Amino acid sequence: MLIQTTFQPAELYEAVHELIRMAYPKHDLTREESPSADVKLHIQRDIDGQQVFFNGWIITGDQRTARKESYPLDVTEGDERRRHINRLTRRFAYDLLVEHTGHSINSYGILTGMRPVKLVHRMLERGISPIQIREQLRNDFRMSPEKADLIIEVASNNYPFIVKGPQAYNTIGLYVGIPFCPTRCYYCSFPGAVYQPGDSLRSFLTALVREMEGISQCLKETGRTVQSIYIGGGTPTVLSEDELDQLFNHLHRLFISPATLEITVEAGRPDTLSPMKLRLLKDAGASRICINPQTMNNETLAKIGRAHDREGVVRSVNWAREADFRQINMDLIVGLPDEGRQDYQHTAEDILKLAPENITVHTLAVKRGSRMAEQEGRESVGERIKTVQDGLAMMETLFRESSYKPYYLYRQKYMQASMENVGYSLPGHFCLYNINMIEEKQTIIGIGGGAASKFVNPSDGGLKSFYNPKNPVAYAESVDRLIAAKVDNLKTVH
Ligand code: SF4
Repeated sequence: MLIQTTFQPAELYEAVHELIRMAYPKHDLTREESPSADVKLHIQRDIDGQQVFFNGWIITGDQRTARKESYPLDVTEGDERRRHINRLTRRFAYDLLVEHTGHSINSYGILTGMRPVKLVHRMLERGISPIQIREQLRNDFRMSPEKADLIIEVASNNYPFIVKGPQAYNTIGLYVGIPFCPTRCYYCSFPGAVYQPGDSLRSFLTALVREMEGISQCLKETGRTVQSIYIGGGTPTVLSEDELDQLFNHLHRLFISPATLEITVEAGRPDTLSPMKLRLLKDAGASRICINPQTMNNETLAKIGRAHDREGVVRSVNWAREADFRQINMDLIVGLPDEGRQDYQHTAEDILKLAPENITVHTLAVKRGSRMAEQEGRESVGERIKTVQDGLAMMETLFRESSYKPYYLYRQKYMQASMENVGYSLPGHFCLYNINMIEEKQTIIGIGGGAASKFVNPSDGGLKSFYNPKNPVAYAESVDRLIAAKVDNLKTVH
């Protein structure tokens, strides 16, 4: 199926193509004239002084929908004017698509980005009340009432924990990427390395320490401290006890100070854990640990290539409690192969019995490069969208009934129109790193394999991203260049 799109000016494509894809998920888009196209769409925009005019139509077979609108441009200059025109353009395209298709195309309305909560933060900063924000989200952004309420709730919950004032300049979050896993999950597109017991990690760990030293030096020179640390991957707990011990010694020597409020270790796979390893992590200073079942159904766990079962998850959580971890996160995925309502309910109820302080609910996004995308195609979740939506709604109800609050939220590419990933937390256990990283309010320095850095300029909200190679060999070979690039960025945004 093909959809032909024509725009005047041509740059309108950038503003609206994601909305068109949401309305026609199974169509390919072309910007060429194509007589055989199943759908033809045209939008024209003219700006005349303080007025903007839109004219557009869509044709499918015998059905033709046309719209014409004009708006005064009360915002007269700069970035604000550009944003305003862009928003009107998207809204025009959205209304045209909804009228033609006869149904809502995105419960987030004209918002297609990954971080819808940021918009609410900007409004809160401008002193707009939650009631007015809701009205704007509904009327100007065409959001559904449920999603408008959800993002306002998330923003209100996490706003007090966002770094502000001098803290936004003087503190950073540190991400340490250990790109090794014991096996590769069926849905994973992260091309790190599969770790075999006995493999030598020496060259990777040597490069990691070198990068830690280079970044630490720059943080000292620019007067910054580390507020939160997140050791992620991959699966960092593939490292031996001795390697983890050394990693923490370096973190204490180079980054950890009284200003460091939180240290998370992603211990994603129960099959990499032992009571001794968990005790070591706690004694070394880890305050938060993630034990990620994804599902509590053993059949599914086997299907998705995870070398652990439900019982292993329960055992690991008990070991973590015995090691005195007071903040445990558990990740779940809704949309795994062959799972339905009963499976979601079983997983949610089983998790609630373990009473983790944080639960993160992901909607499966089938990414290019995963075995799942190769074998089932990227639309495989789309076909069971209703079951996935019901599963998400049921989990939300169960978690809210048990006092969990949604406190961060993000969307992903390839995610279905009405879905998102949501971090839930019991009161008093919000993860600082996740909030400030997702809301892009604090500079995050990513070191290690596959680590992403985000350099935030608090004075103008400017943002620059930088990625380390995921492959451990490529990472080790390029570490000096990676340090130099990050130091440059850190000095620029200071
Ligand atoms: S644990 Fe995470 S990074 Fe490792 S293979 Fe599974 S999805 Fe990929």
